[in-house]
Amino acid sequence: MPDIETDDTKLSRRDVFGLGSAALAAATIAMVGERTADAQQPASHTAPNEINPGQVNGPLAAENPDSEWSPSTDSGTVKPFKYSFALSHKRVENGGWTRQVTARELPISTTIAGVEMRLTAGGVRELHWHVEAEWAIMLYGSARITAVDQEGRSFVNDVNKGDLWLFPPGVPHSIQGLGPDGCKFLLVFDDGNFDEFHTFLITDWLAHTPKEVLAKNLDVPPSTFDKVPKKELFIFQTGLPGDLKTEQAQAAQGTGTVPKTFDFKASTMKPTKVTRGGEVKIIDSKIFPVTPISAAIVTLKPGGLRELHWHPNADEWQYYITGKGRMTVFAAGSTARTMDFEEGDVGYIPISNPHYIENTGDSDLVFLEMFRTSEYQDISLAEWMAHTPHLLMNQHLDVGMSVLDNIPKGEVVIRPV
Ligand code: MN
Ligand code: MN
Repeated sequence: MPDIETDDTKLSRRDVFGLGSAALAAATIAMVGERTADAQQPASHTAPNEINPGQVNGPLAAENPDSEWSPSTDSGTVKPFKYSFALSHKRVENGGWTRQVTARELPISTTIAGVEMRLTAGGVRELHWHVEAEWAIMLYGSARITAVDQEGRSFVNDVNKGDLWLFPPGVPHSIQGLGPDGCKFLLVFDDGNFDEFHTFLITDWLAHTPKEVLAKNLDVPPSTFDKVPKKELFIFQTGLPGDLKTEQAQAAQGTGTVPKTFDFKASTMKPTKVTRGGEVKIIDSKIFPVTPISAAIVTLKPGGLRELHWHPNADEWQYYITGKGRMTVFAAGSTARTMDFEEGDVGYIPISNPHYIENTGDSDLVFLEMFRTSEYQDISLAEWMAHTPHLLMNQHLDVGMSVLDNIPKGEVVIRPV
């Protein structure tokens, strides 16, 4: 990663210590070189006021070089906008595990919460529902998902790596891992205070309803319910589901299937935009009609940049799928902060706060941009510069008229073009 500090900045830091010009020259020479992973003593930070003599969490500092020694353009107090699933409590059950990053873990993330879940082959996330909409992406393996809508219409299908689903608010559903090794997926909810451990579970509900009422409700003897679990199942191990077509037909008897499908095959979708720097797939209600949550699946090649931009209609919640990157968020009032991200990390940007994401690793960086809005929207710096009178823009930035004339007229999204 290039060190973006200016010489002026370096000199002013040393001036504090009253170094003579010869010492200053020597110090400046010593500073030349790339920043290293050794956060305790990076080659570029050797002045007395930049040495950290102790109490260094080396591995964590090495994973967060832009927090340990930030770019000199960072300034002021910006609320932390990163949390890692690696720090979340994992609830482990027979049949799988789950953990979450919500507004409790990352207070800035008020509009969206995320859940990682692993289900074994045959492992079931119990039949349940919640107030919030549930958007999901399969990260590994396969699952069978089921749901029933407000007209009693059914949805049953199998989803594979890269596929999405959306369960509307209040719609009851289930997820079950398939062979050979179950699955792992990410769930995204349209409320930062969502709690995966506080959903409406079918066993929990029935265990808290008088048996005589259940009997009257289904016109059967009360003993019918003797084996209903006394405590929620939540995630449990059982056998694999039956034949897909048979189960679909059984569930659809009398009412049919949901009119708009709850799943979306994002893995086979043509990218919305492809450049030399990478590609993006934008999935909102224009192509996935049931979703109130929009998504961009971004792939940045090494050195690629998700260009400077903001979103005028929603906060952005991010999940890093693979690779390494960094993001600077400018929070107005001369405040800005850069943080580093890698797989399993969550990022968050408040509405209309500008930001970029840069691939700082040597492999592809893949991440999700998620929004609590059915319509994806963004505004880029380059678009703004290209479509403002160039004289006026140049009077602000003094970059030269030819630079402004040469900015692509269409939005680029990912650099280099
Ligand atoms: Mn759910
Ligand atoms: Mn963004």
